[in-house]
Amino acid sequence: MPSESSQPLLSESTPSLRYVSTRGDAPRLTFSDVLLAGLATDGGLYVPESWPSLPPLDELAHLPYELLAVEVMWPYIAGAWPKDTFAELVADAYASFDHPEVIPLVPLGDPDENLWLMELFWGPTLAFKDVALQLVGRLFDAELSQRNSQVTIIGATSGDTGSAAIEACKDKDTIDIFILHPHGRTTPSQRRQMTTVDSPTVHNIAIQGSFDDCQDIVKALFGEAELRHRLQLSAVNSINWARVMAQIVYYVWALLKVRQALGGLTQLAFAVPTGNFGNVYAGYCAYRMGLAEGNADTKWADRKRAGVNRAGANQADTRFIVGTNVNDSLNEFFETATLQTGQVTPTLSPSMDIMISSNLERLLFELHHRDATATTAFMKRLRQTGKASVDPEQLAEAAQIWSSWSCDDEVTLATMRQTYEQTGRLIDPHTAVGLKAAKSHRLKGEPTVVLATAHPAKFPDAVKAATGVTPQLPPNLADLHERPEYYDVLPNDLSAVREYVIQHSRLGRSE
Ligand SMILES: *Cc1c(COP(=O)(O)O)cnc(C)c1O
Repeated sequence: MPSESSQPLLSESTPSLRYVSTRGDAPRLTFSDVLLAGLATDGGLYVPESWPSLPPLDELAHLPYELLAVEVMWPYIAGAWPKDTFAELVADAYASFDHPEVIPLVPLGDPDENLWLMELFWGPTLAFKDVALQLVGRLFDAELSQRNSQVTIIGATSGDTGSAAIEACKDKDTIDIFILHPHGRTTPSQRRQMTTVDSPTVHNIAIQGSFDDCQDIVKALFGEAELRHRLQLSAVNSINWARVMAQIVYYVWALLKVRQALGGLTQLAFAVPTGNFGNVYAGYCAYRMGLAEGNADTKWADRKRAGVNRAGANQADTRFIVGTNVNDSLNEFFETATLQTGQVTPTLSPSMDIMISSNLERLLFELHHRDATATTAFMKRLRQTGKASVDPEQLAEAAQIWSSWSCDDEVTLATMRQTYEQTGRLIDPHTAVGLKAAKSHRLKGEPTVVLATAHPAKFPDAVKAATGVTPQLPPNLADLHERPEYYDVLPNDLSAVREYVIQHSRLGRSE
C-alpha cells in the first residue's frame, strides 16, 4: 500500500562512488560536487571513499589513449553523466593534442637500457598540465551547463602555468577566466602563450608588481565573501580531484606500452619530476587500482593466494622515484620521515619551486591508514611549527614503493647536456630532474619510465645554456611571436583589479 511519504524510486544503476575529505569533517560528495568544490570545507582534500579496480589489462591493451582514458576513469565518474557523454568530452579533450598517439612513449638510448620518456607535452601549452586541464575545463563546462550556472575563475601565474588554465577554460559559455601575471617579469614566450588567446571570455591582466603581489590580490578577492558569491569565484588548482583522476590514465597507458614492447613485465619504475605532488600521486592511485597486480601476472597472484595484501607486501612491482630540485622538502620527507617548510629558492625548473606540496596530504592520509584525525593533527603540527613527522613504521611501509632524489641546477644542466650528447634528444629542465632521479635510483636494466613534463621549447633559455641548441616550437605554435596579443596593464592595486573583474565578467556586469 503506497504511503503518503513514499520517496521517488532510487536509481537502479550501481551506486556512484563518493568522496571523503582527508580531514574527516566535510560532507561526503558525489563526483559532480567534488569537481566544482576544489578544497573541502574542513580544509582537507577530497579522495575517493574506496579504490575501484582496473579492468583486466588484456582488455585495455589495444585501446587508443582516449578510449583507455574512458575505461580507467569511468568508475570515478559513473552516476554523474551517461558514459557516452563522458566519452565525447574525453575524445574532444585529447583531440587538442598535437600527436597521433596523444602521449607517445619513446625509448631513450639503447633499446636494452629499458628506459623510456613518456612525452606528456603535446597539448596546447606544451606541458603536462594540459593532460588534466583540457579535460577538466570541459567537465566544468558540462557540469555548469547542466546546473544552468556560471563561474568566474581567477588565478595568478609566474608565467608557466597560467596558459594551461586559459587554454582549458577559453570559449566556454559558463566560464570567464582572469589570469594575473607580473608585468614585464615573464619571458615573452610565457606571456605570449597566454596573451595571444583571442577569446571574449579570457582576460589577461599584467600587474605592475611581482608574482607575490598577483597572488596577494587573488587571495584578497577570494576573501571578499560578497564578491565571491556574486561572481561565483572559482579555481581549477592542482588539488582538484578531477585533475588527479585524469592523470591516472597515463600510468596505465605507459605500463601497457612497456609490457607490449617487452612481451611481458614483472617490474616497472616511474620517475616523476615533482612539485605539488599531483602528478606522482596519480601514479599512486593507479597502483591502488591494481596496476601492480595486473602487471606482475604471477607474482601478485601468488601473493594474493598467500593472503598478503598490498600494504603488507614486502616487495612492490610498481614503484615511484620522486625527483625534486633544491626545493627538496619531499626528498627529505622520504628520507627522514620529517616534512619541513622553508624558503623557496628559484631554480631552472620553476614549476617545481615548491616547499609544501599540497597533494602530499592525500598520501599522508593513506600513510595514516585513512585516519582523518591523525592526518589533521599532522597538518596542524606542520602549520604551527613548520615541521611534522610520520612514525618510522609508516615510512618503512612507504619505502616499499617510494624513493626520491634531488638535484641542483648544475646537475640539471649536466643531465640535459649529457642526454643531448648521448641520444641527440633535447629535454627540458623539469624532465632532466626526473631523468637524473631515475638514473640515480633504478636498478640496472629495470624497466623505467621517466615522465617528460614539458616540451624543451617551453624552456628555451635553459636548453640553450645546457646544449648550445635553441629548441624549435612545434608547428602549431611556430608563429607564436607574430600573433597579436590581448592584455591590459593594471597597477598593483586591489580595488583597480576588483573593478576590472566586475566590469569584464558576465556575472559582474549582469547586476
Ligand atoms: C607542474 C609541473 C611539474 C610538477 O608537477 P606536480 O604535479 O606539481 O608535482 C613538473 N614539471 C612541469 C613542467 C610542470 O608544469
